[in-house]
Parts: sequence; C-alpha cells; structure tokens
Amino acid sequence: MDLLSDITQHLLRFSPDALIVVDASGRIRFANQTVTQLFGYAPEQLQDKPLDTLIPERLRGKHVSHLTAFLNKPGNREMGARIADLFARRADGSEFAAGIRLAPFEIGGALFVAAAIRDNTERQQINEALIAAREDADRANRAKSRFLATASHDLRQPIQTIRLLNAAMLKVSPPDLRELLQQQERAIEGMTRMLNALLDISRLESGAIEPQVTNVPLLELFHQLITEFESIAQARGITLRIEPAALIVSTDRNLFYQLLQNLVGNALKYTDHGEVAVTCVADAAALAITISDTGIGIPSDKLDRIFDEYYQVDTQGAKRMGVGLGLAIVKEVARLLGFSVSIASRIGQGTQATVNIPHRFLAAVPTGNDAASSVEPVEGTTRRARVLLVEDNDGVRLATELFLRFEGFVVKSAHSAAEAESLFANCQPGDVIVADYHLDSRNTGLDLLTRLRQRLGYDVPGVVLSGDLPSVLRSVRTSVPNCRFLSKPVDTVALLDAIDELSVAREQAQD
Ligand code: ADP
Repeated sequence: MDLLSDITQHLLRFSPDALIVVDASGRIRFANQTVTQLFGYAPEQLQDKPLDTLIPERLRGKHVSHLTAFLNKPGNREMGARIADLFARRADGSEFAAGIRLAPFEIGGALFVAAAIRDNTERQQINEALIAAREDADRANRAKSRFLATASHDLRQPIQTIRLLNAAMLKVSPPDLRELLQQQERAIEGMTRMLNALLDISRLESGAIEPQVTNVPLLELFHQLITEFESIAQARGITLRIEPAALIVSTDRNLFYQLLQNLVGNALKYTDHGEVAVTCVADAAALAITISDTGIGIPSDKLDRIFDEYYQVDTQGAKRMGVGLGLAIVKEVARLLGFSVSIASRIGQGTQATVNIPHRFLAAVPTGNDAASSVEPVEGTTRRARVLLVEDNDGVRLATELFLRFEGFVVKSAHSAAEAESLFANCQPGDVIVADYHLDSRNTGLDLLTRLRQRLGYDVPGVVLSGDLPSVLRSVRTSVPNCRFLSKPVDTVALLDAIDELSVAREQAQD
C-alpha cells in the first residue's frame, strides 16, 4: 500500500503534464511540480492565486467565461480541441500555445476542476507548417493546371494540321508508304485523345468550367451513348444493353454526357467478352445509374487509387488505350455536378460503376417547347406502328416521345387537341393514338379520339392516359372499342403492350 501511495504522489507531482486544481470560484488550490517547468512558478507561488495568473491578459475574459460555462455543465473535455487560440502565460509574461484537459470532481459537495496542461507550441508549429505546405502544393497544382490548359489548347491547332496533312498524304501516296502513314495516323489519334483528356482535366481543375444547367432527358443521353458506342461494342463482340428510363435530370448536359461516356468507354475498353449494361434505379432519395461490365475487373487494393490522375492498374500486359485520366475526369465532373460515383469490382468477373444523382436534380417539368414534332425510331429496332402522341405537359410529352422512339416507334406529337386534329388528319392504318385524357377545359383525349374516328371513318386505335382513371371510367358509360385506358404515371410495359396489341388487332382486322 505504501508503494502505491508513493507512486501516486510521484505521478501527481511529476506527471508529464502540469496539473492544477481550481475551485468553483476560480482559485488555484493545487499545482504540481511540472508547473514550474511550464510556467516558471513554484507550486506554492500559485497556491490560492486566481486562475487569471496563468492566462494572458488579452484572453482573461474569454477564459473566465469558458470556465464558468464549464462549471455549469461539467464533463471531461479538452479545451484545446475546441479553441484553436488557447494560450497560457508564464511567470515572465511570455505566452505559449497550450493544450488543456479539464476533469471535474467533488469533495464534500464542493466542486473542483482538475486541469492537465501541456505545451502545444511544437504541435502548433507543425500544424502551421502543414497548412503552409498545403497552400504551396495547391498553388503549384493550380499553376500546373494553368500550364496544361494553355499548352494542350495551343497544341491542338498544329496537331489538327498534321492530321489533315497525314490524311491528304494517305490519299496520294504509293502503296508502300500507306502502311507507314496509317501507323502515323493511329499515333496522331492517340495524341489527340491524350491532349483532349489533358485539356478536360485541367479546365475542370482550374475551375474554368461553369455548369450550364438545363433539363436533360436521360433517354436522349442514352441514345447518344448507343450511337457512339454500338459499333465499338459490335466490333469487339460485346453486347451493349442500355435500358431506357423516361427520367429528366436537371444538370449540365455536356458534362453529364462526358461522365457517362467515360464510364461506358472504360467498361467496353476493359471487357473482352460478355456484356456492358447501363441500368437505372430511382428511389425517393436518388437516381442510381449503374454501368456494369463482365470484364477483367479491378483488384480490390487498387480501387481507392483508380480515380487519381494518371493512375492505371497494371492490366497484366494487356494493351489498353488510355492515359489514366478518364476516372479523374469522372470524379471532377461528378463533384462539379453534385453527383457521386462509386466503383465496385471483382477481379475476373467485372466492374460496376454507379453514378448517384440526388433526388433534387430530378426535374419534373422540363422547359422544352418544341410542341409538335416527329421523331425517327432508333435504328435497328423499327416497329410497324406509328404513334400519334398528344400530351399538353411538355416534360411528360418529351419523355414519352423519347421512350417510344427508343422502343422503335415513329412518333408524331402534338401539345393540344387542336394541334393534334390538324396533325393527325392524315392518320394511316396501323397508327395508334396515345392521348392524355385531361387535355384542356373543352377537350378530353377521348373527345379527340371520337372526332378523329368520325372524320376518318374507322375506329382508329387509341390509348388514353389519365391520372384519375376511376373517375374517367365512371364517366365513360359504354366500353370504347379499340381503346385502352391506362393510369398515370404510366407503366411503360403496359403502354407498350397496349400499343402492340392495338396495332396487331388492327392489322388482323385488315387481313
Ligand atoms: P485509362 O485511361 O487508363 O482507362 P481511367 O482513369 O479511366 O484511365 O481508369 C484508371 C484505371 O482504372 C484504368 O487504367 C484501368 O486499369 C482501371 N479501370 C477503369 N475502369 C475499369 C473497368 N470498367 N474495368 C476494369 N478496369 C477499369
């Protein structure tokens, strides 16, 4: 027991931190030996002195209010962790950066606070040095980005010239030179790609790019992805599957496309067989677009580095085209747009890159005002029926139009009953009308269909969409031949089934 109390005494007197105990009135009731090293006072000099003795004059008010607040709500805590400019005052009047830990305790109902104090000067100096080093690094990084932006921009012109000259020489050169010129062409293409990537990343990093936000239909971007990548996928024997989603994102179109383009490009680049798929899942919080592939995968210990500039995983000798900037661009673009991107992967099995788009970016009503339009179907998926769409809400019309177009229909659309009547006057057999029920105060989609039928002399097939189907069905007393009623928001599969069914029925009737 004696040994234990000796140890306790020693610890208290010579602990590495200066220890003081203050009573509720702010008087020092105990100070240990280490106080002398730190403050230059002998412990007994501090006995019963106010705590202010150890605090620089300029900070006394602040410290006292801090102590009062602490005494009102005591708990173990480090003062220095909360207050950056915590300073203590030595006997000679000099100051030092102090880290202070407080611990309250009670003796006979009276409150005391023990304070462990250490000199944080060195720690603070290290912190300041770190901040300065970081600022230097940021400055150097900005200078690098500026240099790259200028250099890559200025190099584009001469490369363009070389490219054109190479193409011209290819045309007129004898066969033995052609092979060399073709190789040169490939090298120029590689150089152009690298230059474009450098220009993109440096522009993004230098903050020179301001997102131009508009309402972007996902279907449009997906269509563009198909146009750009379909032949590449075909050439490599890979299936490219992009599931249509009739959603509209409020964002910068070009940057958003660039982000998807890089992810789909990578998926195709690092996949030798199987499939690259783009799918969407939306819930109340966000829209997730996933680009998944059945490619070579990324080792788990490399996953946290792949977004770094110029980082490339060693792909076991496989020859890949790239400079290691694609994912760095993806990361910067996502940051700029307020999206997030995560990548999961299993070596040898494939990779899934997911773009998370918070719900606030999903637009309900786009600004498109191209009311009447006719769009061609996506190549290779042509269906026979032509859809005549009439919908007064611009956003819904655009999304439905694009969705149907993706499904292979030729779509003609109108934004009002009056426009539809003139536009659909030359309706042909096989055409299907898809109409919103609540068109305007005088017309319903069903009225429009009835009038067109009277005018054309046959039961043009029609799909009527309504947000309040039960009340519509109640008001339609007899069943309408060759017509389907569907609820809004429309189930895309049900819509396709209805159109297919009606157009097939029409063809059979004709046969
Ligand atoms: P790169 O120009 O080399 O494709 P990126 O920045 O786009 O550069 O990607 C960084 C590295 O991450 C690539 O070099 C590749 O090793 C790996 N990677 C990216 N996407 C995939 C993917 N879908 N499958 C396998 N590896 C990938």
